[in-house]
Amino acid sequence: EIEIRGLHKSFGDNHVLRGIDLDVARGEVVCVIGPSGSGKSTLLRCVNLLEEPSGGRVFVGGTELTDPDVDIDAARRRIGMVFQQFNLFPHVSVTANLTLPQRRVLGRDKAEAAAVARENLERVGLAAKADAYPAQLSGGQQQRVAIARALSMGPEVMLFDEPTSALDPELVGEVLSVMRVLAGEGMTMMVVTHEMSFAREVADRVVFMDGGVIVEQGPAEQVVTRPTQERTRDFLNRVL
Ligand code: ATP
Ligand code: MG
Repeated sequence: EIEIRGLHKSFGDNHVLRGIDLDVARGEVVCVIGPSGSGKSTLLRCVNLLEEPSGGRVFVGGTELTDPDVDIDAARRRIGMVFQQFNLFPHVSVTANLTLPQRRVLGRDKAEAAAVARENLERVGLAAKADAYPAQLSGGQQQRVAIARALSMGPEVMLFDEPTSALDPELVGEVLSVMRVLAGEGMTMMVVTHEMSFAREVADRVVFMDGGVIVEQGPAEQVVTRPTQERTRDFLNRVL
């Protein structure tokens, strides 16, 4: 579903991604781990073209996003993204947070957008908060709204960049459970996370990045408990 080939990204003379090759199959959950500054966010941002790659190719669902002739907006609609900061619209209700992008970007009418919003709020367990404003919700609830908003656009793949890092520890679990359910439903997911237990339990594959390259990847259990590379072992010793 996602194919990344020889991906490079530089910011000025800072060569951040140095040749990333990665495939994520349909329905697969890949967790990306690695030290701060290793390029994890940049990798995700290149996959949905929030950053323009300096070299290499990215395909999602068979469409080359890096093709200069591609309709970027159409391609980007196929990709849902959830950030560490929830980025909800603060001045409108939860429902409006879900319906406005559908209406603006997908041209859905009010009734259809509302029906899709309701369905996705139910999916994340927040149907009761439909009329609340973001500030009235806990961080965990806000992040679940952000997930429901991304899902309302009907994405083929979902990208998560440290979705629980801004949350108080007691709120992490509810967000991870929603992600676990999505994974179980067969959503294709790339998840940058520090939650090693989530990675072990949910990821089909764990990718360890350092210095803009993939140092090691494999089945979650193997990479997290029996890494073959020294750099992976050092990192895991620091975070586990
Ligand atoms: P963290 O775990 O702290 O989130 P990360 O692995 O996500 O780190 P990135 O955010 O991808 O790392 O950053 C990798 C490098 O790219 C850093 O050196 C960072 O300063 C640089 N960088 C990222 N975004 C930009 C940008 N928009 N402009 C300039 N430099 C950037
Ligand atoms: Mg990051």
